[in-house]
Amino acid sequence: MTASARLLIVGPQGSGKGTQGVRIAESYGIPVVSTGDIFRANIKDGTDLGQQVTAILDRGDLVPDELTSEIVRDRLSQDDAATGFLLDGYPRNAAQVTHLDAFLADRGESLDAVILLDVPREESIARLKLRAAEQGRSDDTEEAIAHRLDIYERETAPILEVYGPRGIVDRIDGVGSLEEITERVFAALAARGLRLAA
Ligand code: AMP
Repeated sequence: MTASARLLIVGPQGSGKGTQGVRIAESYGIPVVSTGDIFRANIKDGTDLGQQVTAILDRGDLVPDELTSEIVRDRLSQDDAATGFLLDGYPRNAAQVTHLDAFLADRGESLDAVILLDVPREESIARLKLRAAEQGRSDDTEEAIAHRLDIYERETAPILEVYGPRGIVDRIDGVGSLEEITERVFAALAARGLRLAA
């Protein structure tokens, strides 16, 4: 059975949303659509897109909305995203929410749930520093980390004010073990009637 779930996971950098997103998507049998991963794969492969965005990612700035939204539209138009998907890292500001809303509305769809992983800023910074030491991501410098968290607080967190009134936001305590947090998310989604893939 293929589950139908259209999900968005939101949280500050270092909240563990990438890791949780993969676990959740796997259980629901839906693909993860991570804009950060798409950009990084293009940079690694040296594509035109990769060359266009390398410096932007290194600074911790946002890639232009039009370009990002076009990439997401293309990705969500692929067959495997027809009955569901988990968006990670998109939308990241009000303009992208508008783009996504229009795209989904055209298909007669909407998001079923927005999972907000709640993690205090100090905890995010500590986790990001650890990841920098372990993975050596080029945008995990101290300066870029602070810049990305500022953008999150200024541009991304406010999108919850758009989704909140729609009654689709599940605020999940993002502090705890990996398993504990996944269980919290499953419980919240189950309460919405979103069942796991058989
Ligand atoms: P992430 O892996 O989600 O932290 O994304 C890494 C970087 O990719 C970000 O710091 C941005 O430079 C870029 N990026 C990812 N998603 C978006 C988005 N929705 N809009 C603009 N830039 C993005």
